[in-house]
Amino acid sequence: MTYPFELPDLGYDHDALDPHIDPRTMEIHHGKHHQGYTNNLNTALESYPDLHNLTGEDLLKDLSSLPEVIRTAVRNNGGGFVNHSIFWQVMTPGGSGVPSGALAEAIDTAFESFDAFKTIFQKTAAGQFGSGWGWLVVDPNDNLQVISTANQDNPVSIGLNPILGVDVWEHAYYLNYQNRRPDYITAWWNVVDWDVVASKFNSAIG
Ligand code: MN
Repeated sequence: MTYPFELPDLGYDHDALDPHIDPRTMEIHHGKHHQGYTNNLNTALESYPDLHNLTGEDLLKDLSSLPEVIRTAVRNNGGGFVNHSIFWQVMTPGGSGVPSGALAEAIDTAFESFDAFKTIFQKTAAGQFGSGWGWLVVDPNDNLQVISTANQDNPVSIGLNPILGVDVWEHAYYLNYQNRRPDYITAWWNVVDWDVVASKFNSAIG
């Protein structure tokens, strides 16, 4: 996907993740927040046609190569564009089971068990100070790690390949959960699409 970047479809209705994520939050999050990052990314790149063939991930992988005057705008809005695109992909109505195959083995290797992984991920995402994201990433040695990032920073900017992400900005949960970020993350597990995460894992280690 290249310039002009377009807001990707959710792939499901606004009410499809209810009650875990309410329809009004989905409507505003996708239609206003994600659209806003998309528009602002396009605006930042408008006068730089040499960058128009790059994907969002390409732009974020090498921020230092970008013109300084748009670097922060691309970091924030390119990050917002890519992060939310991942976020919608890794969710599905009713969720999809648990990890299997190579992904399940990698989780056991890195974290000892799926339950232990979930505990670490939950703690990391809930503990991100202020706005940001919780991630499951593949590192350059094909090992899994759990990290959080601030604001709209994406793991690709530090050489890590995200395969699962949860948005912990207040706009992701405040209407339904107010200050209860851990409760939102606990509910979010119910809509994670492990088939998509496994597909991203297989691509990352390919
Ligand atoms: Mn968001």
